[in-house]
Amino acid sequence: MALEKEAKRMAAEFEYSKDDLNRGVQHFMTEMREGLGKTGGHISQIPTYVTAVPNGTEKGTFLAVDLGGTNFRVCSITLHGNHTFSLTQSKVAVPRTLMETQVAAELFSFLAKQIENFLKTHHNDHFETHKAKPGQVAYFDLGFTFSFPVEQVGINKGALVRWTKGFSIQEAIGKDVCELLQKEIDALNLPVKVSALVNDTVGTLMARSYTSPGKESTLIGAIFGTGTNGAYVERLSNIKKMKDIDEKQGGANYDTTTGLMVINTEWGSFDNALKILPDTPYDRALDKESNNPGIQMFEKRVSGMFLGEILRRAMLALHNSDNSNASFLKDKTSADNDLTTTTVIEPDSALFKQWGIDTSFLSIVEEDQSDHLRITKQVLEKDLGIQAAATEDAIAIKMLVHAVGKRAARLAAVALGAVILETKRLETDGFVDIGVDGSLVEYYPGFEDYIREAFRETQGIGEEGEKKIRIGLAKDGSGLGAALIALTAHDAEKP
Ligand code: ADP
Ligand code: MG
Repeated sequence: MALEKEAKRMAAEFEYSKDDLNRGVQHFMTEMREGLGKTGGHISQIPTYVTAVPNGTEKGTFLAVDLGGTNFRVCSITLHGNHTFSLTQSKVAVPRTLMETQVAAELFSFLAKQIENFLKTHHNDHFETHKAKPGQVAYFDLGFTFSFPVEQVGINKGALVRWTKGFSIQEAIGKDVCELLQKEIDALNLPVKVSALVNDTVGTLMARSYTSPGKESTLIGAIFGTGTNGAYVERLSNIKKMKDIDEKQGGANYDTTTGLMVINTEWGSFDNALKILPDTPYDRALDKESNNPGIQMFEKRVSGMFLGEILRRAMLALHNSDNSNASFLKDKTSADNDLTTTTVIEPDSALFKQWGIDTSFLSIVEEDQSDHLRITKQVLEKDLGIQAAATEDAIAIKMLVHAVGKRAARLAAVALGAVILETKRLETDGFVDIGVDGSLVEYYPGFEDYIREAFRETQGIGEEGEKKIRIGLAKDGSGLGAALIALTAHDAEKP
């Protein structure tokens, strides 16, 4: 009983009330506006140069490549024009040596070589004809999903700001990554044009807009995976900083006729100043001991990379609690534990290691409806080296898991709800469509339900508004989305 009470008290620290939620939404809307006006001190609101969103009738065949952390994917996508598509893809691991090479061209020529191999395998006629009679066949438009920070200045132009995820090719920093890739593609004489530089959130938005039923377009693309981020469709006239950016480019180098542009919010850094974000002792310790303290504060409360670590710190605090009656994972108060066994935590248990608990653990526990939480106990043993945990322990863990997961979903609703309200789509269109991607939103039980519950509690959305919001998983977002952006880039170039 004492343990249950203590676990309840800790779980309550993660409660994100209706008032908190509404304050969060208001503050997010403020940061959205500030970010469109100037740089610094709020979410970045990066213009993407994508000025149209698909409606499902698009047609054609496009190439897409995705350089993520570990793999390089090449695919060709054929859009059938009826919300459906077919996709062929290949995947190779990027050799470690190329991630750390001195010469940027070595990496990019490797990437171009993979594109050549792909064409030879899947589009050989096209490839051979181009070799024999250059100019006879059309070029493939290629969308380049590049998951590193870039300062984008055009639909297929962007300077690398810095490498992350183990890459460190100094020479490439500040260079246009599309140009680096195009140069190596041209060296191999491939019929391919790098038409678009793509952020994965924008890809998700485009992919959902193409595949979602009906002619209406999607408003938001959101990622809840390792990290979290979102992109949405903004009115060009609201993007105040665009004027300065255009001037630097010698005029607008994008299609202005739609009056729209997709904005990459970079909402992972929402409220880095912690004006409204919840801040438990576990959040504080996680941040302090992370490699980027004070940065990505929203992401650190919402995304897959962090939820396991928040839970781990809460579990550890409960284990070390001064309240000795609340004995957690110590086998003292166990009523129904097997009498012949005692709870043992291995000394090198992941419970004691930073980042030791993966967020998939939370999904398993949240889902567990088995007798005496048998499944949770099994995972504790297998993944955390905790043997013979008591049912009371498992119940306490489940309470904490639920609290951490639900708070993340309600915070996700802050970002989504703010974009919905700020763009006034419920008022003008009467409905809103959202595309989502990432393992957290895909697999965490009830993540969408908690988001919806929060929408109902949000002033300006409410019961009525929530019913008009559609949320759909955008699978293959990076490939399909990049293809769709390549298409809009191609169309924009037509006279
Ligand atoms: P990426 O962000 O690299 O595109 P994912 O969308 O698969 O990849 O997200 C990976 C993140 O999701 C990791 O932080 C991982 O801990 C978390 N994750 C993986 N499986 C699950 C799951 N079943 N439930 C919740 N989170 C998960
Ligand atoms: Mg992803």
